[in-house]
Amino acid sequence: MTAIRLLPPALINQIAAGEVIERPSSVVKELVENSLDAGARRIEVDIEAGGARLIRVRDDGGGIPVDELPLAVASHATSKIGSFDDLEHVASMGFRGEALASVSSVSRFALTSRASGEDAAFRIEVDGGKLQAARPAQHPQGTSVEIRDLFYNVPARRKFMRAERTEFAHIDDLLKSLALARDGVEFRLSHNGKPVRIWKAASDERAALQRVAEVLGEEFPAQSLRIDHAAAGLHLSGWVGLPTASRAQADSQYFYVNGRLVRDRIVAHAVRQAYADVLFHGRHAAFVLYLQLDPAGVDVNVHPAKHEVRFREQRLVHDFLFRTLHEALAQTRAGLGTLPAA
Ligand code: ADP
Ligand code: MG
Repeated sequence: MTAIRLLPPALINQIAAGEVIERPSSVVKELVENSLDAGARRIEVDIEAGGARLIRVRDDGGGIPVDELPLAVASHATSKIGSFDDLEHVASMGFRGEALASVSSVSRFALTSRASGEDAAFRIEVDGGKLQAARPAQHPQGTSVEIRDLFYNVPARRKFMRAERTEFAHIDDLLKSLALARDGVEFRLSHNGKPVRIWKAASDERAALQRVAEVLGEEFPAQSLRIDHAAAGLHLSGWVGLPTASRAQADSQYFYVNGRLVRDRIVAHAVRQAYADVLFHGRHAAFVLYLQLDPAGVDVNVHPAKHEVRFREQRLVHDFLFRTLHEALAQTRAGLGTLPAA
């Protein structure tokens, strides 16, 4: 045993990275969420070797002023909250001020940005936690973040990365879930120089449903019901699949709370109950649902990766979801006898 001492900052960041940066897709999630928070209308994600060699996210958002660049990669530094009260009402995807500090401590990292209203862009680089001074660079308004050689200095993590194809599949799934979260934003995804996805910004409901079809299958729109219902400060919208759209796997279930994809026990239970008497045993519903509520009514500071939320009024949310979906699906229940079994 040695004496108690404070850990060096680079090591603190590497430990923090362990919490949120599980694999390349976790990095993509953090970067794209930053782009969304910056108000980007267009986000481009370029991947090489499943993200092990390169992850690059480019956006046309508000950018970062040159004097704030070092802070962007400092830990516990954020422009999104400034007080406990802000934390209770947080509407942005990020607020922990940890992602860039974490990622840059376990990769070769570069960030180039031109802030809105500025006519020059600047680039900073961080190599294994060591920050280089900002240099002038070429960039339109917005930000590009480049992560090379993820986990190059964390052999244990590097070893856990799966085949290129598997890691890319995780990134592709993640992009789908983000594309469904923000249909007004254009997303592009490429792998090893080849374009894989292009989702153009959807300007109306028909275009939004087209994006849903690209993710859930071309047959989904014809096999789903539109949901749009508000009560008691809660608003639920989206599409629920009819029994004919059900799947053998629960892999087509997208539930967003204030634009954030969540896995929540209360939500899952309400949805399952609503479907209980229209789905055959062993089948899983397909749906894309958006719940909007006052940010003060939901705590997003539950898990570092923010997959989980906690509703202040769990009962109210549960009953609202159950009733809304149950009523919508009632039409199906009435006609269930006419649907082919299996
Ligand atoms: P958080 O998102 O929790 O604030 P991050 O470490 O992800 O923490 O980012 C730190 C800060 O860097 C953000 O608060 C934001 O001000 C800035 N930033 C990061 N990415 C971008 C981006 N793509 N565009 C504009 N600003 C960004
Ligand atoms: Mg962030």
